[in-house]
Amino acid sequence: MSQPFAPPETALFNTLWESQGGQCALCGRPMPRHRFEVAHATLWKKQRPSFDHILAKARGGSDRPENLQLAHAACNWRKGRG
Ligand SMILES: [Zn+2]
Repeated sequence: MSQPFAPPETALFNTLWESQGGQCALCGRPMPRHRFEVAHATLWKKQRPSFDHILAKARGGSDRPENLQLAHAACNWRKGRG
């Protein structure tokens, strides 16, 4: 079984997590780091940390680390899918 809602536990994820102090770059509230920190899978799906493009790819933003930040998945969707 794969884990579609697991956060990407990469070096970049860890670096961004540390520099943001575990807080969403869009709303400023804390993000759960692991599925077991939230009660329901539906909550996790909305609150899990996701990579957000600071400058949207649609506007020419890159996938480079300096254009990425962590945000709640729901905040990311509201903004317009990175
Ligand atoms: Zn947020």
